[in-house]
Amino acid sequence: MALLITEECINCGACLPECPNEAIFETRSAAEAAGCKVSEGQGEGDTVYVISYERCTECVGHFDEPQCAAVCPVDDCCVPDPQHPESVEELLEKARRLNPDKEIDPNKVWSGVRG
Ligand code: SF4
Ligand code: SF4
Repeated sequence: MALLITEECINCGACLPECPNEAIFETRSAAEAAGCKVSEGQGEGDTVYVISYERCTECVGHFDEPQCAAVCPVDDCCVPDPQHPESVEELLEKARRLNPDKEIDPNKVWSGVRG
């Protein structure tokens, strides 16, 4: 499943450049302006960063763990989004579709993936 950003976000910006799928946006309206959907309830009021579930793969295919959560200075700010369950295979396929020019490694799978 994708991750989402909670209201605990302090808008530090550390996560955005680390995302291999360009799934993170400064605000909900910025994501929507780019044509990327955001889970219901996330980033309402445009006060915090958001993750688009259409582009997040939990970093599967790229890294061993979600990079946004790894760099975020706030505990439990980048967390799994239960509204969008996906299997490892679905996440790998998504990573390939989003990154046709990048090598996607099927061994790069976060142990926390919950389909
Ligand atoms: S888990 Fe990975 S792909 Fe998803 S938003 Fe975070 S950095 Fe991007
Ligand atoms: S790293 Fe964490 S606190 Fe900083 S913008 Fe991203 S989600 Fe918000």
